[in-house]
Amino acid sequence: MASVVLRDITKRYGVFQALHGASLRIEDGEFIVFVGPSGCGKSTLLRMIAGLESITSGEILIDGERVNETPARHRGVSMVFQNYALYPHMTAAENMGFGLANIGTPRAEIETRVGEAARILRIEPLLKRKPHEMSGGQRQRVAIGRAIVRKPRVFLFDEPLSNLDAALRVQMRAELARLHQSIGATMIYVTHDQVEAMTMADRIVIMREGHIEQVGAPLDLYRNPRNLFVAGFLGSPKMNFLEGRVEEVSAGRAMVDVGAAASLAVPVGRAIEPGPVTVGIRPEHLRLVSNGSGELAGRVDVVEQLGNSTLLYIDLGSSQAQVVAEEGGDCPARLGETVKLAVTPASAHLFDARGEAVARSVS
Ligand code: ATP
Repeated sequence: MASVVLRDITKRYGVFQALHGASLRIEDGEFIVFVGPSGCGKSTLLRMIAGLESITSGEILIDGERVNETPARHRGVSMVFQNYALYPHMTAAENMGFGLANIGTPRAEIETRVGEAARILRIEPLLKRKPHEMSGGQRQRVAIGRAIVRKPRVFLFDEPLSNLDAALRVQMRAELARLHQSIGATMIYVTHDQVEAMTMADRIVIMREGHIEQVGAPLDLYRNPRNLFVAGFLGSPKMNFLEGRVEEVSAGRAMVDVGAAASLAVPVGRAIEPGPVTVGIRPEHLRLVSNGSGELAGRVDVVEQLGNSTLLYIDLGSSQAQVVAEEGGDCPARLGETVKLAVTPASAHLFDARGEAVARSVS
């Protein structure tokens, strides 16, 4: 187990710059998730930590030791890939022990470690099976077992659940979180799935176009996104964005005209000039209200009943697009109906003309 430090890491492929100076300290035993849209550079960064990709500039330290020039096999890291990368002709036990055998580990020691990993992953009955005799989820467990037996200082996961079906992904998410708790190892996990990031990470690193946009605990990022990109990336359904203009600021509140004769009061922690802004409201913070008291009015365009909740897609009219409101499972709203929506003021976010969040309270 070890800390990992990234110091101003850049990566160029010819003229294309894939990473623009990533800096981060990952603590010993942390579960860190790199998340971002396709092409943002998360796999490249992971592969650089693994030693599978050269570093254009900057420094990577594992447990305080610079590893830029250290070959992958000597870095003390184990990587689990999306496609499992198991040898088809070997049994699960042989696949798990192969790397250890290669470096001359005594047979008895290999058996002990494979047995221990199989117990942790609950795959003891599968040890004699070959990959084609196992399900996708079982194969992925074997691939994780192969990483565990090497007792790495750092585990690296590159979208390990992407090939599994939805139900199995949910189960494996919980298993990986349990694995992290039981062995307490430093884990770095790459995904484009914000739900995986929210549910497993101690801290999430949100990336966009080769830049780290924000780092923080999942709920911290969810509640205090630094900019429009982070706000829109975390959360499903996405945060609603309403274009508006700040009319005046008084007593820590900005009055924002969002068109359609509606004005929203958004708490702000600093002075802000009158002018164009974006108001962000999460679907769960839009409440359907009866007669007259709503701050926004619109027509229900789509109703999605999910059982435990109902998603209403509401056309606000004027120039504003649609908003999504998340209501209870027994929400009575009907298609085509005109409804009113109230916004809990403390839950609204304000972004300036550059898309940067305006702090909500002075701290
Ligand atoms: P995905 O989720 O699609 O895997 P990612 O965030 O992991 O995306 P990377 O694989 O890290 O993205 O790639 C980052 C950028 O670098 C992309 O624009 C990609 O096209 C580019 N890139 C990656 N590898 C190479 C390469 N060998 N040569 C040239 N460009 C590359």
